[in-house]
Amino acid sequence: MPICTTCTTAVPFLYTVYESSYNLRLEQCPNCPDTFADPYVEHDSLTLLLDLILLKRGVFRHLLYNRGSEPRRAISGTAVAPPQTEKEKQKMRRLTILRFGGPILCVDAFIRWCHLTPSQPSDISPWTRETMNALFRTFVGVSVETIAFHFGVLCACYVVLGIADRLGSRHAVSDIRQEFRFSLIPLTLFYSSLTKLFLLFLLTIWRPSSGPAPISSTFYGFQLFDDDNREWVVRNVLGGMSAGFGLRVVLDSPPLFTTIIIISGWVVKTAASHLVSRWVGGDEQMGEAWLAYSIP
Ligand SMILES: [Zn+2]
Repeated sequence: MPICTTCTTAVPFLYTVYESSYNLRLEQCPNCPDTFADPYVEHDSLTLLLDLILLKRGVFRHLLYNRGSEPRRAISGTAVAPPQTEKEKQKMRRLTILRFGGPILCVDAFIRWCHLTPSQPSDISPWTRETMNALFRTFVGVSVETIAFHFGVLCACYVVLGIADRLGSRHAVSDIRQEFRFSLIPLTLFYSSLTKLFLLFLLTIWRPSSGPAPISSTFYGFQLFDDDNREWVVRNVLGGMSAGFGLRVVLDSPPLFTTIIIISGWVVKTAASHLVSRWVGGDEQMGEAWLAYSIP
């Protein structure tokens, strides 16, 4: 059953369809006065993307719990498709993970490769056989790291939720927890990584030139971080915080639980990074550079 994106109460329908699928009316949440259950139904993909980057709870709830839910049909006698079974929903989620995760891994690998490849004079083409090999190895390294992080987070979620359920077995289970499925975790991690990737992308294309430190880099004591550290902070600290935020929304759990889950994911990711660092870097020095940038 879909949920209200404001208060997470389960609602039977998000909108009513009249004569055609373009003629629809949003349903109000019975729990929130004068509020639509899910205003994101009417929003376009660009708005959804911007709200994901801005880490808005509502868009996470819409994409994870409400996407693809059946509308109420106002005209009787029209052909109505049967509601999706749990198996079909699971299949759709796996497809979305692949469709969304693939491009994110490519962008992540490209940003990492740009950071690790020393800048060359503009008259030399960066696309040599050597650099293409390095890009491929970086892509494999990023994929291994991501899979390890997701695996660590999934295992930690399983354990933490099991303990939380035992401790709180006397309390009623919330609507959002009833709708929770473990396949939502990888999707949440991919969605919440957009903020980090967006900022890393900006740092990659607007790298400060060498010379005196720009005024912006000394703003609010930010001179503590040089160029490398700034990217490390965005990747690991901001990345960890946004992943924790996403998990809080999808699990509806206190920050302590999500912090434990993220740290567990980092431990598994760090172990995997160490395993592949030498191969991804090409030699020991580059392997260490890759490792220093990737692990918290
Ligand atoms: Zn509500």
